[in-house]
Amino acid sequence: MDLHEYQSKGLLKQYGVAVPEGIAISRIDEAIPAYKALGGQGVVVKAQVLTGGRGKAGGVKLVDNQASFESAIKALLGTRLVTYQTTSEGLPVNQLLIESLTDIDQELYLAFLVDRGSKSIKLMASTEGGVDIESVAEKTPERIHYITITHGTLEGFQARELGFAMGFAPAMIRPFCTLLNKLFQAFISSDMTMLEINPLVIDREGHFICLDAKVNLDDNALFRHKELAELRDYSQEDEKEVTAAKFDLSYIALEGEIGCMVNGAGLAMATMDMIKVCGASPANFLDVGGTATEERVTEAFKLIGSDDNVKVIFVNIFGGIVRCDLIAEGILNAIDLLGLDKPLVVRLVGNKAEAGNTLLSNSEFDIVAISDFKQAAEKAVKLMRRK
Ligand code: GDP
Ligand code: MN
Repeated sequence: MDLHEYQSKGLLKQYGVAVPEGIAISRIDEAIPAYKALGGQGVVVKAQVLTGGRGKAGGVKLVDNQASFESAIKALLGTRLVTYQTTSEGLPVNQLLIESLTDIDQELYLAFLVDRGSKSIKLMASTEGGVDIESVAEKTPERIHYITITHGTLEGFQARELGFAMGFAPAMIRPFCTLLNKLFQAFISSDMTMLEINPLVIDREGHFICLDAKVNLDDNALFRHKELAELRDYSQEDEKEVTAAKFDLSYIALEGEIGCMVNGAGLAMATMDMIKVCGASPANFLDVGGTATEERVTEAFKLIGSDDNVKVIFVNIFGGIVRCDLIAEGILNAIDLLGLDKPLVVRLVGNKAEAGNTLLSNSEFDIVAISDFKQAAEKAVKLMRRK
């Protein structure tokens, strides 16, 4: 789960990290009061969308008077922001962060992340802040410094070494180490998988300030952080994936034409592979779970059916614990509700498969039931070509 910038900064502030003074708003009538509360001089207006590259896409606006502030608000609030990291539809800008301006001397880059490769937490830092770090990594990799944090402790000498590697004046080393410790505390205590500060700035008075902050929390640890879990902003997520999560379905939208409904993640992956082998592409990954109920099947079916990219629906169920006749009923229920305007290929094998197939073939709908996996996939692809 990602946090918005204003939420990330609010969290870091609790650990004593310096962030600019700011107010998040979601309604237009909150704008002027926020502007005045921040001194009524210049401010920066920042679109709160869960993506990077906002600055380049016009989502960060520096203004120095009320008139340009008002036009910045109008230009952003309620619109959608498209950045190089989003789809062409972009993300809705439902909230803005208004912040007092910072007098920047230097822009730096800092990030903590869980590094699976080394089974540790990596701390990355660079003097090349503000720009996208990917291009720094590509063009001048020697300007990124890494620290590997093992045993869950950021050692004092590691922090100091990093400070020197960054070329800081001696007087800046201690404040830098203090900052790293606070950020690391926040990272560990909140079960983050990523904390990126880009840019971390040194202002004209020589203070470190986090001008931007991006937090990703470990979804599997959210049960320990109810107050953070509540910050989740569903408006920034794929609508279908949100619906799927509500019904305990593992669903990932993909770009192909064959909508898949499968039970079990392994079979779901094998199904996607088989579709590829047969020369087409899956429109989604969908695991209805090892204990698929009729209700979940109905919801899953609705989900796939509502995807305009889907040309053919392919259901692949192995009845181990789950009963194939209940799956068949779920499918028929969903079709009753939604109608069936796409070819449907169903493969049911295992527990009560025969009963399931009988239900399907007795129905008034045109359902192709094939029990061989490969033949079923081939049929689905063939029907897609015919469309
Ligand atoms: P991002 O593009 O989504 O990463 O948004 P950022 O929050 O990182 O802002 C992009 C850039 O805007 C920063 O790198 C800064 O150069 C600039 N910026 C943001 N806030 C301020 C500010 O308070 N003062 C000044 N001078 N520049 C700012
Ligand atoms: Mn940034």
